[in-house]
Amino acid sequence: QYKYKELNVISQTTMKMAAEIREHMDRLEKEKRIRQEFFSNASHELKTPITSIKGYAELLDQGFVKDEATKKDFIARILKETDNMTNLINDILMISRLEAKEAEVTYSMVRIAPLLTEIFESAEPIAAEYQVTLHKECEPLTIEASAKQLRELIMNLVSNGIKYNHPGGNVWVEISSEGPDMCIRVRDDGCGISKEEQERVFERFYRVDKGRSKKMGGTGLGLSIVKHIVEFYGGHIELTSTPGKGSCFTVTIPFSAQNKAKS
Ligand code: ADP
Repeated sequence: QYKYKELNVISQTTMKMAAEIREHMDRLEKEKRIRQEFFSNASHELKTPITSIKGYAELLDQGFVKDEATKKDFIARILKETDNMTNLINDILMISRLEAKEAEVTYSMVRIAPLLTEIFESAEPIAAEYQVTLHKECEPLTIEASAKQLRELIMNLVSNGIKYNHPGGNVWVEISSEGPDMCIRVRDDGCGISKEEQERVFERFYRVDKGRSKKMGGTGLGLSIVKHIVEFYGGHIELTSTPGKGSCFTVTIPFSAQNKAKS
């Protein structure tokens, strides 16, 4: 009787261990697949601008292009593709640092209102170009965080609100305190995102309208970076959107960010 009981315990423990090992292997396998997918996407995304830069450079080099206007146009295209590549490389580096948790994080007491003013100063020229009006409302808050990361997070959401909008559109940013959290709400009356796409837009390289994103210098990594930063601080991001009406991204970050991030 005693031996049977002992065997039973051993077999149950072994089964539990086997299940844990299987779960661990599945997780490793999934991480490996995600990493492979990321590298393959990143290489593909980098290959596209390189191919077109090479094409234009070859045409210019072969001397077939005679008129100055076409030459200028080709050079402008080369410069635009180079900018796209720089954006992409910067975003890839940022993602990999965030994932490796190696981001150089310099915490300080960040005053949100001046930071938002600074972000608006950078975003205004793009907004003016696309005829979109920016609005802000901000409580006089201070949060212990990295100003660089907060700027990246808010700037990404604001620039998306501008990019995926129409002339005459608006982007509203509201920052307030909600109990232990700071709440950043970025709302627009732009093109909106369908229900099926709402989950997917946070995936790396996922773009609803690839042509539009590329034309605007998008990399498909912006929202993934935003999500990483939010999670880095132990916060949440929510998206509500209606196609044709607009989108609203709500980020909540605990004020005691440093402690949460460490835990
Ligand atoms: P991108 O560099 O293409 O802007 P993001 O990761 O920032 O990449 O966004 C992913 C996709 O989600 C975009 O390509 C766009 O299709 C969609 N998207 C993001 N923000 C908005 C928004 N405010 N309104 C409508 N669509 C959006």
